[in-house]
Amino acid sequence: MKPSDTETGGTVVLASGNAGKLRELQDVLAPLGWALQSQADFDTPEAAETGLSFVENALIKARAAAHHTGLAAIADDSGLEVDHLSGAPGINSARYSGGDDDANNAKLLSSLGSLPLNQRSARFQCVLVYMRHWHDPTPLVCQGSWEGYILTEPRGENGFGYDPLFYIPSLECTSAELKPELKSEISHRAQASRRLLEALQCLPG
Ligand code: IMP
Repeated sequence: MKPSDTETGGTVVLASGNAGKLRELQDVLAPLGWALQSQADFDTPEAAETGLSFVENALIKARAAAHHTGLAAIADDSGLEVDHLSGAPGINSARYSGGDDDANNAKLLSSLGSLPLNQRSARFQCVLVYMRHWHDPTPLVCQGSWEGYILTEPRGENGFGYDPLFYIPSLECTSAELKPELKSEISHRAQASRRLLEALQCLPG
């Protein structure tokens, strides 16, 4: 059952207050003709991210937004996985150091010390879920991964978070050195969003 077939008038809530994420997803999902609205428009309280994986946290956020609004919901959860750190900072990417992005990057650099580049492999992960209603037993779960390496010092001014340290060998630059338009075509979030669009287009009904 698609939201356009329900009394919700085709409105789907995005379980995030981030205006940039809303715009990006609105663009990718435009072929569906849905109205994607931020959960902030419905005064939805932030859900506690108590899961131990990106998938669990995305499900928790989507379920909470669907429950609060009575609408179908989409949520994402993303972060950086560093192989040498057993996947950390992972689901704790935003709060890794307890401080801001610069403090997170400083902690990451000191955790990796002087390891050579080939032992600094990492990837950005993004999980996007779609739930038709809060007790949907078969939510759609889509994932995107973006492979790279963590540099020993930051490079580039664009982006946010770990972008200045995330080096993409095939492009010979960090994600903070990429044009924002290119990043939003190839990133982990872009890949997960395209997979979600494909999955939604295949839903019955
Ligand atoms: P969120 O789930 O998208 O809010 O991301 C959680 C955290 O993961 C962010 O606060 C960043 O630290 C990190 N992160 C996720 N995506 C990116 C990205 O595209 N660039 C840099 N950092 C990211």
